[in-house]
Amino acid sequence: MTKFKGESVYSGIAIGKLCLYSKNEKKIERNHVTDVENEKKRFEDAKTEAINQLKVLYDKALANVGETNALIFEVHQMMLEDLDYIESVLNIINTQGVNAEYAVGTTGDNFSAMFEAMDDAYMQGRAADIRDITERLLNILNGSNTDGLKLEEPVIICAEDLAPSETVQLEKDKLLGFVTRQGSANSHTAILARTMDIPAVIQANIEMLPEYNGKLVALDGFTGNIYLDPDEETLSEMKAKQQKCIEEKELLQTLKGKENVTQSGQVVQLYANIGNTKDVAAVLKNDAGGIGLFRSEFLYLESSDYPTENEQFLKYKAVAENMAGKKVIIRTLDIGADKQVDYFEMEKEENPALGYRAIRICLDRPEIFKTQLRALYRASVYGQIAIMFPMIISVSEVLQVKEIIKEVKEELKAQEIPFKDVELGIMIETPAAAIMSDELAKEVDFFSIGTNDLTQYTLAIDRQNPKLGKINDSHHPAVLRLIEMVVKNAHANGIWAGICGELGADTSLTEWFLKIGVDELSVSPSMVLKVRKQVRETK
Ligand code: PEP
Ligand code: MG
Repeated sequence: MTKFKGESVYSGIAIGKLCLYSKNEKKIERNHVTDVENEKKRFEDAKTEAINQLKVLYDKALANVGETNALIFEVHQMMLEDLDYIESVLNIINTQGVNAEYAVGTTGDNFSAMFEAMDDAYMQGRAADIRDITERLLNILNGSNTDGLKLEEPVIICAEDLAPSETVQLEKDKLLGFVTRQGSANSHTAILARTMDIPAVIQANIEMLPEYNGKLVALDGFTGNIYLDPDEETLSEMKAKQQKCIEEKELLQTLKGKENVTQSGQVVQLYANIGNTKDVAAVLKNDAGGIGLFRSEFLYLESSDYPTENEQFLKYKAVAENMAGKKVIIRTLDIGADKQVDYFEMEKEENPALGYRAIRICLDRPEIFKTQLRALYRASVYGQIAIMFPMIISVSEVLQVKEIIKEVKEELKAQEIPFKDVELGIMIETPAAAIMSDELAKEVDFFSIGTNDLTQYTLAIDRQNPKLGKINDSHHPAVLRLIEMVVKNAHANGIWAGICGELGADTSLTEWFLKIGVDELSVSPSMVLKVRKQVRETK
């Protein structure tokens, strides 16, 4: 038996034959051409063919893995129509008088390197999409098959990396799990694994040795362990773990449609956190009662310029409509700290987590804030939207926010644009907000406790620093005392309080959250049923 280790991006156990998957890495030749116009036409034709292929893939993904995941192929179509990408290819053909393959390959390398160099993990993940569309074009240009890997029997795929288009083409019922030597937790491939409900491990230290092909592997998606040729003891341990996992999942399914109620009759709202409109499908699939945190900054992170009012309006409207009257709490822009956006042109800071971020930027640059607020209010008539504000430290900030909202509403009214009054809440994620929660509660409709930042700022531990992971303890009594105090102050002033940080999904604390009277827990969609189970088992 040989044991390898990687980072889990989706839990579960897979036991089966390993199937090594290597792409046909073809060397791209640089050839001088005499007919530049012909090369440009070859590129244009390849682009048209690629877009046609992606349309077919979209339909296939739609049927297999749903609209949320199919959208990536629409994104790829848009990337192929991106003017910068096209201009770069045509420019290389024109100025260097070279073949289309070389121009496409070079453009793909340049663009993916540019994305990889970005600070933001999401944008880094887009480098894989650039490589994916580039490879598709190259395959078309040199007449290769782009059908991907055909699986004869159920296997665990092991690859250097997997592009989203390769992942979705794998037959779902023959895919037991996958292991990649590279990859990032934010990549669409990892997202697909979660949606396909397939154990997946990335950044694994396994080598791609041909002799491994076809060998038995036990993949532990909980620990990231990969056992090649497992010994009998490991195999039976893994089988038992797999069985337990299957039983737990089946049991969780029976909780769909059930109330989040304890045995003594206490009810708690169970909502889900999303970062993107596409995540709504997972929210509905897991039967969440609403969206407790829509991290709207991802709309800005995905964009290469400030998203316009209308672009934002359409996204908020879509989420509100898809949730069909269930509550959708949208957090205003929380940019800064670990979430940097180039076009905001922010200065480099010594301590970005303690710096220019979130509501501080919005109050300092009200034109950005107002654009978002107008979009939110316009979308309010399409469902049950609530708005909340991040990183609040004082009552005066809330009063400033309310003043800006008043202006926005007056402007909309004057323009005869319909809107509804919505619940306004704040995130409690700074010790200052927790300590001042008695006064803050008089100004807002609800609190949502952001335990990720509340822990960071209470314990003075950078949440991004992997060296401090062990002591970054959200169970620290100081954090728990602040949570209890916030809930008490909320109730004393007649408003509700929820938790939207990761701690909300920590089932070892569910009983305590209920005891102190937390009204709502907002967790990642895949955790909803697990937390519901814990609530229902609580006395
Ligand atoms: C939090 O800080 O707990 C939170 C939910 O916000 P984010 O993780 O996006 O900072
Ligand atoms: Mg936060």
